[in-house]
Amino acid sequence: MKTVLFSVSVCLLMILAGCANEQTANKAPVAKAEKMQYVETDTGRWLIHDMNRPAPPVISAGEIPSDAIVLFGGTEPSLSQWTDVKGNPSKWIVGDGYMEAVKGSGYIQTKQKFGSCQLHVEFATPSRVTGTSQGRGNSGVFLMAYEVQVLDSYDNKTYPDGQCAALYGRALPLVNACRKPGEWQSYDIIFHRPIFKGNKVVRKATFTVFHNGVLVQDHVELQGGTGWKGPHAISDYEPHPDKLPIQLQDHGNSVRFRNIWIRELAD
Ligand code: MG
Repeated sequence: MKTVLFSVSVCLLMILAGCANEQTANKAPVAKAEKMQYVETDTGRWLIHDMNRPAPPVISAGEIPSDAIVLFGGTEPSLSQWTDVKGNPSKWIVGDGYMEAVKGSGYIQTKQKFGSCQLHVEFATPSRVTGTSQGRGNSGVFLMAYEVQVLDSYDNKTYPDGQCAALYGRALPLVNACRKPGEWQSYDIIFHRPIFKGNKVVRKATFTVFHNGVLVQDHVELQGGTGWKGPHAISDYEPHPDKLPIQLQDHGNSVRFRNIWIRELAD
């Protein structure tokens, strides 16, 4: 009798265990489905790690990325893509692989217009040092209306919000990464344009800037225009088109530029 009872008990336990397993097995797919994670993207709704999700375009990342627009440089550097601010040929001069600001010639600007972008610029302030403060190796890279200052800030005291790599009048660079006068230097700038609705800015511009490979502006939100002190310096944003030329400043100093390329970014 005891043996029969024991056998029945074992059978019951096995049946119960089987039911439990079955329930677990039935629940497993539900639990797994609930844990699946999706992301909403511009290209649709995709599972995390989805092999069918469209991959980013393949580019060649040489000295100049293959999807960049070369504005100055390459095999035959010329001002073919540049004019003065009135659309006439610029009086800036072209030397051996570089262009140079000529005092009194005015800003030089690209024929093509740009908004949000990644911009690479190389520059050299004059090797023959003259002037002081803002009078030494002054130029500037203008994205839309906003200036990333170019200045010989190597052992040259000036107001910090106007030294090299400052967002002029608005944001100091995190460090002074200037090389000596005459040496080639670089800016790599990530710029997102401001967005306007009517006369109001609804999203301010942001700048990330590397100076000679060193982070000097860390996703800085620009609070307004970068004009010289006066009504523009303290102004809020003034509405402008979605795209404008890239400009380089003539501030009366023979600053040189070379290897300028740009990649357009989504706003
Ligand atoms: Mg300047």
